[in-house]
Amino acid sequence: MQHKAGFVNIIGNPNVGKSTLMNALVGERLSIITNKAQTTRHRIFGILNHEDYQIVFSDTPGIIQPAYALQESMMKFVSSAFEDADVFVYLVEPKDHNLKDEKFLIRLQETRTPVLLVINKIDTLDQDALEVENAFWTEKLPNAEVVPISALNKFNTDYLLKRFVELIPVSPAYYDKDAITDKPERFFVSEIVREKILLNYKKEIPYSVEVVVEEFKEEEDIIRIRVNIFVARESQKGIIIGHQGKMLKKVGTEARKDLETFFQKKVFIENFVKVNKDWRSDNSKLKRFGY
Ligand code: GDP
Ligand code: MG
Repeated sequence: MQHKAGFVNIIGNPNVGKSTLMNALVGERLSIITNKAQTTRHRIFGILNHEDYQIVFSDTPGIIQPAYALQESMMKFVSSAFEDADVFVYLVEPKDHNLKDEKFLIRLQETRTPVLLVINKIDTLDQDALEVENAFWTEKLPNAEVVPISALNKFNTDYLLKRFVELIPVSPAYYDKDAITDKPERFFVSEIVREKILLNYKKEIPYSVEVVVEEFKEEEDIIRIRVNIFVARESQKGIIIGHQGKMLKKVGTEARKDLETFFQKKVFIENFVKVNKDWRSDNSKLKRFGY
């Protein structure tokens, strides 16, 4: 077989399971996952390498109507996923027929690139309900092949993979065949800390936080990490730290455990909370944060 390589770009509404699917396909926990919308803020590559092919998956933020500059930037990451796809995965979840932004659907209807309309979370459906979903999406996107899966249970993901390999072109690899992502180690540190913040705080707090890795020093038997957690307002600082520093300590401990699994090494992590006023709406600050 001639070597094949291509970009499979996963897009869809918030919380439908895009990150779960990419992690399942790549077999690594690259993208953080929570039950909250807007967990993913960047476009993240997960690379699947095989002797005969290389698939570069893109996980993207969920489609929303942006309310502030950070979200506008997140939607630019979604748009960029339209520019280089060899295959589109439009991921949906049962009963969510609400299109957050019609223009993305129109682009999918009009594209000449293959589109797989993937219905996720079918572990929550019976056969009749699945038929309803199937009929709805077949009508919406007649050019797409409808594939039902459960990313969580890895049900039918083998079939998806088989289709991707069929659909990507003959091409040399785009990345080293031992690479699993395009992002540096520091990125995963900040994402894991952000995941713990998403899981431990309520309401607006996680959405007002950006995590920056100040120091990442790998020694022979330990990785030393220093992290700044930026909040948008002074009042949020106390909430992050918590009574007698307990909340921040919990976040630090949970993050350390995951980091040790991720890097397969002992980790020492220090977290500092700082105010960076209204960073979410400030374009120059966003730029410095990589958005
Ligand atoms: P994203 O926002 O589209 O990236 O969605 P995530 O991957 O972060 O997943 C959102 C939520 O859906 C998480 O709580 C996942 O555990 C859950 N989820 C993902 N895939 C499945 C699935 O196949 N079945 C069920 N029941 N839940 C799923
Ligand atoms: Mg996600």
